[in-house]
Amino acid sequence: MKTALVTGILGQDGPYLAKLLLEKNYKVYGLISRYANPNFSNLDYLGITSQIDYLQGDMTDECSLMNIIKNIRPDEVYNLAAQSFVAASWDQAKLTTEVNSLGVLYLLNAIKLFSPATKFYQASTSEMFGNSNINGEQNEATPFHPRSPYAISKLYSYWITNNFKESYGLYCCNGILFNHESPIRGKEFVTRKITDGIAKIKLGLAKEIRLGNLDSKRDWGFAGDYVRAMYLMLQQAKPDNYIISTGVSHSIRDFCAIAFNHAGLTDWEKYIVIDPQFKRPAELFSLQGKSSKAKDVLGWEPEVTFEQLIKMMVEADLSRYK
Ligand code: NAP
Repeated sequence: MKTALVTGILGQDGPYLAKLLLEKNYKVYGLISRYANPNFSNLDYLGITSQIDYLQGDMTDECSLMNIIKNIRPDEVYNLAAQSFVAASWDQAKLTTEVNSLGVLYLLNAIKLFSPATKFYQASTSEMFGNSNINGEQNEATPFHPRSPYAISKLYSYWITNNFKESYGLYCCNGILFNHESPIRGKEFVTRKITDGIAKIKLGLAKEIRLGNLDSKRDWGFAGDYVRAMYLMLQQAKPDNYIISTGVSHSIRDFCAIAFNHAGLTDWEKYIVIDPQFKRPAELFSLQGKSSKAKDVLGWEPEVTFEQLIKMMVEADLSRYK
């Protein structure tokens, strides 16, 4: 039986990845930093809470990570833990850097010292590109130009992951994932904020949704599809870095129109209030990824379309409030 350690097990991607690994008969360990009142709701949603072995540790606590790696020596580590909310990274830049940058260094050091055969996946992000693009899209060769403390912290982790591969021969991969969403996306993220708000409006529990820049464009996929790519990256003969995206980008405006329409609410613009507090200090206008390398090497392609994703999220939020 293969073993995997998943950090960020309580977030969005952790539960989807854990479910996939359990289906593949892995023993799955999940890192939990706060043992007082951990929130298992996302794992509950996928029905796998009792199938994970939980370990206590924090990405900012090197010793806890060393002990964990030394004790379990997992076949694979998927590092999904992060302060992942871009907007918060301007207010909490130091914390973001400690978790997202130094935390990765600690984890890699633990692997190097105690379990060098462990394969390592780092959750890198399209945010590292900023507004940089080649003919309007981003691929593995597009230069990085991060535009937030979050993206900068992730750029460090991207390079330290590459560096441990090149310096020590560890099996380390970066998945450069474009935005991916699901019914268990955090409610502070714009897509879920919209679908959650729509459900409340539909049921008479709210009157408006406050948003920032409706013209920002993102390449949105489904988290359940994207965790398959993470798994595939660690099953190859050689470690490498891959863009994971749908190749299609939409504006927040498009997202709203489809989501409101699906809930049967017409004239959607009357429910939206543009609130400057939700605009970023440095805006990122358009992301559209080219994931042909992942298709050619990993055989990976997204299955859920933009419309199907929105429908899934709206329906999940409507049934929660009902
Ligand atoms: P998420 O829902 O925010 O989950 C992140 C998890 O990290 C949370 O469960 C959180 O635990 C945990 N965490 C935070 N600080 C920690 C610490 N100091 N020690 C241990 N755990 C800590 O993020 P996600 O959407 O699943 O994304 C997974 C990863 O992919 C993240 O690294 C994110 O930056 C990256 N990524 C995401 C996207 C996307 O569109 N979703 C795109 C590209 C890259 P608590 O719940 O206890 O706070």
